[in-house]
Amino acid sequence: MTDFNINKSVVWLNDQLIDFDKATIHIASAAVLYGLSVYTVFPITVTNQGLAVFRLKEHYQRLVESAQILGIGLPSQNWSYEAFVEVIRKLVNANQVESDVFVRATVHVSEHIPGTRSRGLATTLSMFIYPATSILPVDGARLKTTHWRRVPDISIPARAKVNGAYVNSVLGKQDALDSGYDDCIFLDANGHVCELSAANIFMVRGGALITPDTTSDILEGINRKSIIEYAHDLGIDVQERAIDLTELYIADEVFACGTSAYLTPVLQIDNRTIGSGTSGPITEKLSRLHSDNLHGRRETKNLVRL
Ligand code: PMP
Repeated sequence: MTDFNINKSVVWLNDQLIDFDKATIHIASAAVLYGLSVYTVFPITVTNQGLAVFRLKEHYQRLVESAQILGIGLPSQNWSYEAFVEVIRKLVNANQVESDVFVRATVHVSEHIPGTRSRGLATTLSMFIYPATSILPVDGARLKTTHWRRVPDISIPARAKVNGAYVNSVLGKQDALDSGYDDCIFLDANGHVCELSAANIFMVRGGALITPDTTSDILEGINRKSIIEYAHDLGIDVQERAIDLTELYIADEVFACGTSAYLTPVLQIDNRTIGSGTSGPITEKLSRLHSDNLHGRRETKNLVRL
């Protein structure tokens, strides 16, 4: 199994397959000028029945909803899920995918110098494949609560996966890196826990699994949804509610989840050891289930075969 070589890959842009180093967006486009693009990242995994994508429909749906929130158009008038899957098949067929990879799919506002507006502008879809490496240390992460606050829904909605909004994530993550941590925890303006720079957060207290609800200025993570479903299936009490930072400090277990974070135990927050300082039993159980589902080792309706 060889790692995917992005520099030799073929990508999708402007309705065609082209070489990776030819795939450029114009400097005068709204995508470049204002960060006016929406995106998603989904995994392609190697299973014993070939390549598969986890919860692809949800990724497509979130991309459409992000565009709807911004008021930007889709790449074509009848941009269906089937058309989206067709592009992925073309992309996979044109590249030799032999290992787990991620695909970044973006709808860019490609119109040149449109001014600060969104509706009625030309858009284009890009897609490229890159190696699936976790954004967090797989054995466990150390997090810092950043002084930067999560962008609130009334300013730049975290629910929409907007490229420009990731300046907020960059500020928080760099702050954590500068202090020697792996990633940040964002709080909202009232001090409640939101999420990491690019992953959702869960804690275990007294046997219950607790995570901020979807009106807490978070991205509605597709892996978050899966974790909640596994917990329900296992009979674990799940609570979606506001979380105080100090609750994380005294939690039995904390973990992060997302496409590029997989399910990563959090071992330290703000110099405090969480629980036993190792990955906890509920984290381990959910992590195994999730990995099995992603890799088709158990029957799941959520895998789309390519
Ligand atoms: N929150 C943010 C800010 C993210 O960027 C991501 C990664 N897409 C997530 C949460 C996790 O979302 P998902 O499970 O859909 O990858």
